[in-house]
Amino acid sequence: MKKLGIIIAFIVIFIIAIFVGKYLYSSDAKEENMVKNEEKNNSIINQVDYSVKNDITINIDSEEEKISPNATLILKKHYKECGHTIKEYAEIPEEFVNLTKSEIEKEYSQWEVEKFTPLDIILIKEEEGFCNEHYILKEEQGIIAVYKVDKQGEETLYETTGISVEYLTESDKLELKDGIKVYGKEELNSMLENYE
Ligand SMILES: [Zn+2]
Repeated sequence: MKKLGIIIAFIVIFIIAIFVGKYLYSSDAKEENMVKNEEKNNSIINQVDYSVKNDITINIDSEEEKISPNATLILKKHYKECGHTIKEYAEIPEEFVNLTKSEIEKEYSQWEVEKFTPLDIILIKEEEGFCNEHYILKEEQGIIAVYKVDKQGEETLYETTGISVEYLTESDKLELKDGIKVYGKEELNSMLENYE
């Protein structure tokens, strides 16, 4: 107990010494100290601001949009050789559900994210070569036939439609005589729908 008393006495003396020392400081030094303290306070305020900003970014991150299981996925492939972009509609893969845009970008880095909303994802990729979806529509014995055209320009019969040219306009008939070029299944289907 005696030892403790001595330690406390030392601490008290030490504190008093500090106060006395401060009091004896010249007024210049006091002013200097005040400026320093102010700077210190400012830097503390800056630090506080910074941490508040950090909190906000963390919140935004946690609320980042995620892919819904009901989302629709469109895969676009742009073929360098012919310059066509072929669209493919796909079911949303299970492993995509709840991923954020940045997670998709990281996991599927060969694809570029063209559109990202929880219900609508479009991914696009550059492909070397030819899209292999070049078609030509022609009239054959009064009905429309679809030929597929390969890289070398060779035509092979792809589909014989049940669409008669009989009721088409004269200009449509003329165009069919020359052959109507169509690129991509999507365009082909909408073209045939127009003639039906
Ligand atoms: Zn093409």
